Amino acid sequence: MTIEQQIKAVIRDVNDFPKPGIVFKDITPILKHPGLCNDIAEEYVKRLNGVKIDEVAAIESRGFLFGMMIAHKLNVPFVPIRKKGKLPYKTIEQAYNLEYGQATLEVHADAIEEGKIVLIHDDLLATGGTIDAAAKLIEKLGAKVGAISFLVELDFLKGRERLLPHSDRIISLVNYQ
Ligand code: AMP
Repeated sequence: MTIEQQIKAVIRDVNDFPKPGIVFKDITPILKHPGLCNDIAEEYVKRLNGVKIDEVAAIESRGFLFGMMIAHKLNVPFVPIRKKGKLPYKTIEQAYNLEYGQATLEVHADAIEEGKIVLIHDDLLATGGTIDAAAKLIEKLGAKVGAISFLVELDFLKGRERLLPHSDRIISLVNYQ
């Protein structure tokens, strides 16, 4: 089986979570397979195809799972991006629109040095609002987005279009049409 087939075989669809009409892609069953987790982290490194990455930044909380594993494989620092009010030190923030209302992401103001090339990771690309806000945070720190990675991309929500400046550097291991 390809890695895509292996991931698809264990991802669980949960209907109507967290609200009616949403099919939630539950990635937690992947975590029961340590060998697959390791293969996933190695697959990202392979797909980076030698692109230089200085740091990995990932979005709470499901982004942390493989974000940290990728950072470990690349032997580079890991930077947590969190929802507003969770990080203890001085932060910078970026607001973004949700289907209803707004949310804000934060990163520590000293998390990344200017000029560093960053891989941003999250579990899933839906409309792209979350990752777009994360990319803006990285750029506010004076760093550059070198690549963006997801486990899952929901093609029908066209999140990729929202990430146009970075669209040739997006790595998704699994797509749903
Ligand atoms: P978006 O900003 O619309 O691209 O949404 C992406 C964020 O929301 C990611 O952090 C995902 O974890 C979460 N998310 C959105 N839709 C789903 C879904 N169908 N299944 C699981 N997570 C989702």
